[in-house]
Amino acid sequence: MFTRRDMLRTSVAAAAASPLLFATARAAEESVAGFTLPKLPYANDALEPSIDAETMMIHHDKHHNAYVTNLNATLTKSAPELLTKPIETILADLKSVPDTIRPAVRNNGGGHWNHSFFWGIMAPVGKGGELKGDLLKAIEESFKSVDEFKKAFAAAATTRFGSGWAWLVPGKEKPLAVVSTPNQDNPQMDGGATPILGLDVWEHAYYLKYRNLRPKYIEEWWKVVNWDAVAANFAGMK
Ligand code: MN
Repeated sequence: MFTRRDMLRTSVAAAAASPLLFATARAAEESVAGFTLPKLPYANDALEPSIDAETMMIHHDKHHNAYVTNLNATLTKSAPELLTKPIETILADLKSVPDTIRPAVRNNGGGHWNHSFFWGIMAPVGKGGELKGDLLKAIEESFKSVDEFKKAFAAAATTRFGSGWAWLVPGKEKPLAVVSTPNQDNPQMDGGATPILGLDVWEHAYYLKYRNLRPKYIEEWWKVVNWDAVAANFAGMK
């Protein structure tokens, strides 16, 4: 099969005689390396009215895209061997990332993972299934009831000062626990557990529609949680 990489290699060889064409071919090859912005699994307006189309567009096309671009730029310059590693592997072992770029990799790599995850645990109203089965049992065992779970999760999301995330993660004493992290951190950094549900409470996630009313955003967000996706995450929990 003639792949895109073969094509680039061929074009590099063909262009070697011309410095200008050679530079163009190299730029094309470089743009292929590294992490890519995943497509949203639905249209920008699919989560309305809980999340408006303009917020989704800016959040995905600008904010998430910037994390990917900055992560690639940082790694290309200072640690190109990491460009081919899964982002989870890099985040789970941040201490092995060179000191000089560790904050940039933490912020932008975290931003890339967190947002890729976030798009997948949401679905249009009525399309995300219901909270049921083993996941429902685990939530009831961990928090007594779904209402108490939602209260605990909303409290973590509301009281996270500044920018950050609320997460549902595997628990230590009970099956599941609620935690929150600042900035673009997530629980799996430095070897922690992989979340099964997460909520972005950066102002960029809600300010256009909800202004300063973060609790209202959280309340409306429950309507677009993709419980089928969360159940699949729960089933694969480790
Ligand atoms: Mn965000």
